[in-house]
Amino acid sequence: MVTKSLRSWLHRLRQEGILQYVNREVNRRYELAAVSKKADGLYTLQFNHVRGSNIPVVTNIAHSRDLLALALGVRKEKLAEHFAWAQGHPGQCIIVPPGQAPIKSKILPPDLTSLPIVVHHEKDGGAFITAGLVIAKDPETGIRNVSIHRLQMFSPRHLGILMLPRHLRQIYQKAESMNVPLDIAVVIGVDPIPLLASQAQVPLGYDEFAVAAALYGEPLPLVKCETVNLEVPAQAEIVLEGHMLPHVRHMEGPFGEFPKTYTPPYPKPMIELTAMMTRQNPIYHTIVPASNEHFLIGGIPREGGLLETMRKTVSNVRNVRFTPGGTCRFHAIVSIDKKSEEEPKNAILAAINSSQDIKHIVIVDQDINIFNSQDVEWAIATRTQAGRDVIIACDLPGNLLDPSARNAISDKMGIDATAPLGQAERYAKIRIPGEEKIRLDDYLG
Ligand code: MN
Repeated sequence: MVTKSLRSWLHRLRQEGILQYVNREVNRRYELAAVSKKADGLYTLQFNHVRGSNIPVVTNIAHSRDLLALALGVRKEKLAEHFAWAQGHPGQCIIVPPGQAPIKSKILPPDLTSLPIVVHHEKDGGAFITAGLVIAKDPETGIRNVSIHRLQMFSPRHLGILMLPRHLRQIYQKAESMNVPLDIAVVIGVDPIPLLASQAQVPLGYDEFAVAAALYGEPLPLVKCETVNLEVPAQAEIVLEGHMLPHVRHMEGPFGEFPKTYTPPYPKPMIELTAMMTRQNPIYHTIVPASNEHFLIGGIPREGGLLETMRKTVSNVRNVRFTPGGTCRFHAIVSIDKKSEEEPKNAILAAINSSQDIKHIVIVDQDINIFNSQDVEWAIATRTQAGRDVIIACDLPGNLLDPSARNAISDKMGIDATAPLGQAERYAKIRIPGEEKIRLDDYLG
């Protein structure tokens, strides 16, 4: 059973004892992010008294694999598999009349100062919206695109936007070459499914909301915007409407990003707002950068994409994981059912090819628990000889936000941490018979 709005998701988390209310007044500059960070992986927080705002702020709504498994209705080991399936089986979106869309409750002139936009890190250049789904349509095809971008508040009506070289940037460049503004809607306050779907590893021209509908298992209700030719989830909490201006740039940043480093400031395109819609008593969501929520919302769809891509060339891939230590972008662990000695190196090359973000890949056997980093390190420690088991590829496309990548040019490394075939006994893990059945309490006191 999946939930289909931020409110119903929060209700569920409250029932599970995961959502905690913070009723003490907090400062949205640093304090809110600091408290959230302390609760990272433990609690979803709802800050009911944010200084200078009547709007409550939620954080950590998807802070663990357990929560995402709950959101998607699958076992947590199956998240990548399930996401890969959803990407290949797009669902439907339906347009509902305004009367059936809670987001239409209040239609207001745009004013970003009315929202509790958070300053997260010490050297951030200002307040940033971090959990906004940015909706746009390709001016050539009319097909919708959904993605998440950090948005810096420049003025009550202006936002700066970082677009890495993916779909929204291509769409904006098309509009810019036609010298026309690009309609934009920013959707804040949804449950984890649209957030995950926005990160789907699908090509340009593939509506990410169709992935959300697949994950819901039924059509996603959308409603038309007021001032732009776009549709947004009817159950969203807050929607900002506007357009991205052609040929306008404004200094944006610095900003503490997912690699846990700051990206330096440089000029970026700008969104000019035309309207704002909210539900009655809206709730604002912020994602603390480099939190588990940030890592996993990006990481699970990337795992689904990696699994799907690798299966095209390596038949025996069992499961994949992007690790939080590698910020769920740079480090992938791949479990294979090895049938020949060449397979791990083939798997490494397939993984390198699957995404610009991946830097380091470890291939392990099925007896290694890929969700246990210590187990993976044990495989590297006892099954790898660097001279024969490591592949290094230099000067490939990397991630712009990686400080060690030279202008987004990055080296890649793969480690074969599988045991040689036919030597099972020499490489088997030691075990004590009966250990797994022992309950220590039965022996103490
Ligand atoms: Mn896209």
